[in-house]
Amino acid sequence: MLQPGLMMDRPLLVSDVIEHGAAQFGDVEVVSRETHGPLFRYTYAQCAARARKLANALKQLGLEPGKAVGSIAWNNHRHLEAYYAVSGSGMVMHTCNPRLHPQQLIYIINHAEDSVVLFDSTFAPLVKAVAAHCPKVNAWICMSEAANMPVIEGVANVLCYEDLIAPHSEQFVWPQFDERSGAALCYTSGTTGNPKGVLYSQRAIVLSAMSASMPGSVSLSPKETILPVVPMFHINAWCLPYAAPMSGAKLVLPGPRLDGASLYELMEAEKVTVSAGVPTIWLSLLQHVEQNGLRFSTMRRTGVGGSAMPAALISKFADNYDVEVRHGWGMTETTAVATIGCISATQMNLPAAEQHAIIAKQGKSVYGIEIKIVDENGATLPRDGVAQGELMVRGHWILTGYYKGESSPLVDGWFPTGDIATIEPSGIMQIRDRAKDVIKTGGEWISSIDLENAAMGHPAVANAAVIGVKHPKWDERPLLFIVRKPGQTVEREEILAFLTERVAKWWVPDDVVFLDALPVGGTGKVQKADLRKEYGGVFS
Ligand code: ADP
Repeated sequence: MLQPGLMMDRPLLVSDVIEHGAAQFGDVEVVSRETHGPLFRYTYAQCAARARKLANALKQLGLEPGKAVGSIAWNNHRHLEAYYAVSGSGMVMHTCNPRLHPQQLIYIINHAEDSVVLFDSTFAPLVKAVAAHCPKVNAWICMSEAANMPVIEGVANVLCYEDLIAPHSEQFVWPQFDERSGAALCYTSGTTGNPKGVLYSQRAIVLSAMSASMPGSVSLSPKETILPVVPMFHINAWCLPYAAPMSGAKLVLPGPRLDGASLYELMEAEKVTVSAGVPTIWLSLLQHVEQNGLRFSTMRRTGVGGSAMPAALISKFADNYDVEVRHGWGMTETTAVATIGCISATQMNLPAAEQHAIIAKQGKSVYGIEIKIVDENGATLPRDGVAQGELMVRGHWILTGYYKGESSPLVDGWFPTGDIATIEPSGIMQIRDRAKDVIKTGGEWISSIDLENAAMGHPAVANAAVIGVKHPKWDERPLLFIVRKPGQTVEREEILAFLTERVAKWWVPDDVVFLDALPVGGTGKVQKADLRKEYGGVFS
């Protein structure tokens, strides 16, 4: 007979994270860019006190555990307080992506049944556009002080965050409840059909934040200062707003200023040591640093994910700026990081280019998450680095079903990701493509990601994207889009010759289109659907 373990069974709750931060790292700073410009700074102790004030205020508004509270906001200190006040009270923090189409925003606010919505003044026009269509929202709370409140004509129930919390006590007894209760809700971007809600449990968030803090992952400790560029409105900013107070790291929140110059300035001023974001953000940061001959004084590591990080960018960070890239993979359905790569002791002596090639892959699954690849019939494929199949994932912070969804997306207890991957015997996973982006040509597959990486290796190329275009003979053929670096004049023939030396002949794109910029969506990813719509005709 099994022996019951003689250990306490305490629930993993979000409220304990900020109380831990307040009690153990009470004087560690949170620095936040206000929406109207200046920097605001306080400590984890003060953050916890204001989160409790907000919890009291929400309670007085009549909100109860189980209710959803929306947010349309940047990465800033009030959003952080809301993360803790809402989930800590047993309510659901529904982060809305402000870059969604207003119709989709209306859909998710109504679908989530948000009782109140917190918003930054930047998004006042959006609130004005959607408020009349969201009948269940009783109050729209602008995350501002009275002096900076926007005027929103036609929306009656607009409250001021600072006025709302001011009269309330800093004391609040966080309720204790089942760790499997919903804590936060995020909708997938919904490139096809309506967005789908992923309801994160308290337990999933706490475990995922612990995982992100580990040395092989983003790696946080009281020695670090982290600046999450990855938005708090999408996938919980990879759980870094929880991981930072959990591990005692100073937290720097960039607000609305996400351009290269502003990020660089903030990194230098606040002595940021580690950051996290999507590749497009790092592209613009590096361009700024390169063009102005700058160096990073303290930045030493950055977590990257959301789309593939080209090896050329990894090597630039490492070789020119001594910044280590940790490249991870995850999706809305995986709460935050599911796989991540870092160089092992035995790989440290490899030539730099080989190390960068390892990091360009998406790494190993973190403890608590398992991955496998399957063929069209669901049969598990070998981990040989060659066989390609759909990536399946399961673990402590992977969804079981969509919010109010009717049928379970799981297959034999695994979540099918829609990504095509290989897994090496060592466990390193590589995303070859999204199932819908892979280019099917003459019965074979071309990885658009590999082609983009190869094109990004050309010194005149700032950014690249590849789509499959219908072809009468081959089914599909690749079409390459290039954004040149400023002042560069590289032409089609030179790019194609460059690729011919680097990829199989039948992979070389049939044509190159030069654009000023690639279309980028709500989470900083290239919108291939837009490119397909405009350029996806037929090659002759
Ligand atoms: P969407 O991009 O539709 O908004 P998510 O934000 O949930 O959805 O993104 C998840 C998807 O992003 C993954 O399924 C995968 O295709 C892609 N992705 C995430 N990280 C990486 C990475 N490091 N390399 C390549 N693709 C990635």
